[in-house]
Amino acid sequence: MKAEVSILLSFSAGGDSSFITMKPGLQMPAPDAVLVSILRKQRSPAYCTHLLQDGGRRHSSRRSIQTSAPKARAVVLSTASISSSTQASAAPPPGGYTEPGMLALATLPLSQVLRTYCITSVSSSPTLLAASTSILRGMLNSRNPLFRIDTNPLMRSLLWHTFYKQFCSGETEAQVGKSCQDLRKQGYAGVILEYALEVLADSEGSEEQDVAVWRKGMLDSVHMAEPGDFIGLKWSGMGPEAMRRMKREQEPTERMSEAMHALCKAAAEKNIALLPAAEETWSLTGFHDWCLRMQRVYNIGGKSVVYSTYQVYLKQTPDIIAKHLENARKEGYTLGVKLVRGAYLGTDDRKLMHSTIEGTHNAYDQVASALIHRKYNDVLRPAEGAPDQALPHVNVVLATHNHESVQKAQSLRRDQAARGELLTPLTFAQLQGMADEVSCSLLAAAKANVGNDKAVQERVFKCTTWGPMFDCLNYLLRRAAENKDAASRTHETRTAMKAELWRRLKGTFYMA
Ligand SMILES: Cc1cc2nc3c(=O)[nH]c(=O)nc-3n(C[C@H](O)[C@H](O)[C@H](O)COP(=O)(O)OP(=O)(O)OC[C@H]3O[C@@H](n4cnc5c(N)ncnc54)[C@H](O)[C@@H]3O)c2cc1C
Repeated sequence: MKAEVSILLSFSAGGDSSFITMKPGLQMPAPDAVLVSILRKQRSPAYCTHLLQDGGRRHSSRRSIQTSAPKARAVVLSTASISSSTQASAAPPPGGYTEPGMLALATLPLSQVLRTYCITSVSSSPTLLAASTSILRGMLNSRNPLFRIDTNPLMRSLLWHTFYKQFCSGETEAQVGKSCQDLRKQGYAGVILEYALEVLADSEGSEEQDVAVWRKGMLDSVHMAEPGDFIGLKWSGMGPEAMRRMKREQEPTERMSEAMHALCKAAAEKNIALLPAAEETWSLTGFHDWCLRMQRVYNIGGKSVVYSTYQVYLKQTPDIIAKHLENARKEGYTLGVKLVRGAYLGTDDRKLMHSTIEGTHNAYDQVASALIHRKYNDVLRPAEGAPDQALPHVNVVLATHNHESVQKAQSLRRDQAARGELLTPLTFAQLQGMADEVSCSLLAAAKANVGNDKAVQERVFKCTTWGPMFDCLNYLLRRAAENKDAASRTHETRTAMKAELWRRLKGTFYMA
């Protein structure tokens, strides 16, 4: 009797199950191929391959199907013809995943998933976020030895295992080294090390001392970073005089200039790139001038040792990028572009920004697209005098937690690779402790493409802060205050972590 066979494949690790219908006379295909064909009906290739590599291989080998190994079950439901269709039909994942990155979260240690869930539960609620930041601020400023982290070891331990570990990599070289190693083991191509140093505009100190502290912190960061890593920094970290000079669009002082060159030289020698952060608009022109001043010297031979940060929520940003691209072309250096949406929504002039968030999203994706294709478009238009529609060589860091922007960029690059086009050197970056579902989705895609010469091997970096606990926590508090809106947008991460905890819980009981 010729009959079609329906098989239910059930994967305990992912909680997924799917049906496949076999045509009569056909041989049972390799389970891995079956799995891929089923999942491709409803999943991204990255999701499928990751499942195979991470959990699926263990759960779906030919042997496991034949022997019904405990973690994988292939159940012949019926030998009667259920469907005449050659198409495999797939059941929706029960309570399952809506984003490909979510299964990729399986690679994270449980402690990290739990901590992230707890912290994003607080940060995604504006009320809880405001309460917790004022409690933390109170503790850091407290004179009561019971609340101080330098006098109460219990308090220190509590903050260490929660906020500090979530966002920071360590106080000492050994701790930072271990944290960065752990990130590399998770699949990150490297780290963006940021020293928790800030000089407040109204602080008092001598220029000599301020610059010396900044110089040491930056050179220590270079020492701790590995070739291929980035260092995140602020020119304003050199003190109030540096801020004043950027505001007035003046050159750095000789002392500042010497420290900047010492840093750039050390970074270039170790193949490390520098990502100066953009701050409020009052210092923006000066900030870019200082970045380009270094880029002209160090961004040679197609490499970008120094980048500049461009905030696309500012309507003028595409024009600034176009001007800088043209300047780089004329002067023969390679512009480094770190593209962000912008964090100073609460303090900067809203009139300078897109009036809606959609305007910012569109600008971000269009500028990213132009940089990826190295072709000007309707948003990133050529500066006056630019010879043609093609952009000069450029290095790009897309620093974003926005899943759609990341997916769009990935998709454009996948298409480019399929057409055999030359790819713009590009790095994706997210902050440690935030948007792990976005980072992990990128990592899963990169892992899926290992060994495939025609596919894009995306580079994903986590930006992590290092330094004394007191400084780091103050630094984080200021970032949270500047970027309240983005902090409250961590609900996506919370949802992803909740789904991941639920998946692990179900897996545990299913296996028991
Ligand atoms: C590695 C890294 C480095 C960064 N470095 C810098 C830096 O140097 N300088 C800097 O300014 N920021 C920096 N940021 C922060 C960044 O600019 C964003 O504030 C943050 O990442 C949120 O944007 P998103 O791209 O992740 O997108 P989403 O998660 O989609 O966030 C969108 C956010 O954009 C903001 N927004 C922008 N335009 C509008 C508008 N018109 N109306 C309403 N809301 C608007 C809102 O705060 C909103 O929450 C960095 C971020 C990362 C990940």
